[in-house]
Amino acid sequence: MGAFSETLQALAGLFFPPDASCSLCGGEGRVSEGYGVCAACDAALPKICGKIAVCGTPVLAAFRYDGGAARMIQDLKYNGKRYLARSLACYIKDTLESADEPLPDAIIPVPLHRKRRRKRGYNQSDIICRHLSALTGVPWLNGVLIRTRDTPSQTGLGRQERIENVKGAFDVIEKEPVKGRKILLVDDVCTTGATLDACADALYRAGAINVTAAVAAHG
Ligand SMILES: [Zn+2]
Repeated sequence: MGAFSETLQALAGLFFPPDASCSLCGGEGRVSEGYGVCAACDAALPKICGKIAVCGTPVLAAFRYDGGAARMIQDLKYNGKRYLARSLACYIKDTLESADEPLPDAIIPVPLHRKRRRKRGYNQSDIICRHLSALTGVPWLNGVLIRTRDTPSQTGLGRQERIENVKGAFDVIEKEPVKGRKILLVDDVCTTGATLDACADALYRAGAINVTAAVAAHG
């Protein structure tokens, strides 16, 4: 592929398809502004829309990692369809509202190591956070929490191995915006929550008073 068509493809990934078709089935019509899917696909999504008990950090999940939800996340991460981050942010916002808890003071994405981020070109959690911030009005703290170690993928590891793998892998490089604040961590997927707990540790060390998490999908 030439550089020009690569640029066009990258730009196309930023916006919804112009024909306003459902991003899952390609059919006409969408459930409502921002969600990007039709009523039938929305109804078929494996919704949790509530709390899950996976780790020490309280976690809210919009979906099970399955069906259309898994496809949206894979397309966002690996196929450059960045516009899907807005759909996921809409569903995460619904999940936060259903939990009926006060909004946090700030939202922080689970960071990728800079090497991996450079390879992919973006961190999907950053984009979800940007949209979630716009939808909720809660400020987004970008670049405050960083991944200091390029840890191997958690895929295929057991619970204990996952905990060891990410232990001490995160650090807060700017403590002031975190100190005394209630923080919501945001990620695309969580499995055992080991990564969320490791991030929460770093945030508590930096003076956060409360850390909870919201993820697009659990599985
Ligand atoms: Zn559809």
